[in-house]
Amino acid sequence: MYKHFENQEILKRWGEESEAKIAPVIRAIEGRVDEHQWRLLAAYRQAGVSEAHLVASTGYGYDDMGREALESIMAEVFGAEAALCRPHMVSGTHAIASCLFGVLRPGGELLYITGTPYDTLEQVIGEKADGSGSLADFGIRYRAIPLTPSGEVDWQGVREVVSPSTQCIAIQRSRGYAERASFTIDQIEAMVEESRRICPHAVIFVDNCYGEFVEKWEPTHVGADLIAGSLIKNPGGGLAKSGGYIAGKREWVDRAAARLVAPGILAEGGATHGYLRDYYQGFFLAPHVVGEALKGAVYAAAILEAAGFISTPRWFEARTDIIQLIRFGKPEPLIAFCQGIQGASPVDAHVKPEPSAMPGYGDPVIMAAGTFVQGASIELSADGPLRPPYLAYMQGGLTYSHVKIGILTALDLMLHQQQHSTTQFIRERR
Ligand SMILES: *Cc1c(COP(=O)(O)O)cnc(C)c1O
Repeated sequence: MYKHFENQEILKRWGEESEAKIAPVIRAIEGRVDEHQWRLLAAYRQAGVSEAHLVASTGYGYDDMGREALESIMAEVFGAEAALCRPHMVSGTHAIASCLFGVLRPGGELLYITGTPYDTLEQVIGEKADGSGSLADFGIRYRAIPLTPSGEVDWQGVREVVSPSTQCIAIQRSRGYAERASFTIDQIEAMVEESRRICPHAVIFVDNCYGEFVEKWEPTHVGADLIAGSLIKNPGGGLAKSGGYIAGKREWVDRAAARLVAPGILAEGGATHGYLRDYYQGFFLAPHVVGEALKGAVYAAAILEAAGFISTPRWFEARTDIIQLIRFGKPEPLIAFCQGIQGASPVDAHVKPEPSAMPGYGDPVIMAAGTFVQGASIELSADGPLRPPYLAYMQGGLTYSHVKIGILTALDLMLHQQQHSTTQFIRERR
């Protein structure tokens, strides 16, 4: 495939060296996929899934056996008591907001112990009573405890602020648009234990976006009360057209359902229209698709390192999500990188992304997303806010080959742009 690129010699060398180096990491990812596939298959068999589960319900959606079985499968696979897995959640942000509004009450406080949460949650949390419908508008206070310089939870800081009104302690697994590392399940387990010790009455919520099926276990397996995520990320397996999920202890899932649907109706209502077949099939494929995305991220880490960029996690480091971060330091290569990824997309390859304002995001963002499902970041995508240090977050990829082609296309474009002297660029990059 290298013959398709302008800078084929250097790309071939970087690419082949990278693939040789990462071979053991790729095998380990495949082993994890096998393990997850077994667990999913066991859950599907156990639930007795049949054609009748895959068809649409209408109206109120009461007694939707397909929805009920799918949610019990998800609960089983995630080690939770109950789950909601539905098209009625618009996005991950909506799933998370349903959890927060579900468990928090006026006069209570939300405490994020992993620093400021993901950008889109800023407006969910809000700053003051301003009629916006935010948590603040309902008299719910909020604090985020910044991580220590070494990227750990500042337990001293947490201890100082917890109080009887701390109703929810929130943890964000993935780095989001921050430069910190993502938190592994082992680290989350330790956070859950310490949070319980310090504040036994708080509900422990984990934003699980981008983490599903990357490690052996999910936060609910290690004690989290409630988790949420998006179906156009990992657990939708690339097939879900939209939706979100919530899983955890029944009491808290019901509280989230009361907010998402209505008190009294809870999880009992909600027609699934024609979504279920994609959800069943996508959730079943999710470990494989997450594996492909992970292999792509590892390849990206290795080849970007060969090309001289700083990229994390490094190819040999343990992962807990599908995100690969690349630090460009200036806007031009960030923009070129995203334009390269877009150019190697199956949809809208002819479109050239430019930085622009996005609802819910503070700074202009450039997004490469030539995806079959709008904004689906389980498909190969790259984005970054236009602010120093100009980081790109690359994630997803339905097939490993596509991620490789995407990265090579982006590198080829970046090399081309520097081409006033390729050799000088390559020398600098060494
Ligand atoms: C993607 C994401 C969200 C939610 O984003 P949506 O675009 O609303 O699905 C929340 N938190 C994190 C860490 C995320 O990565």
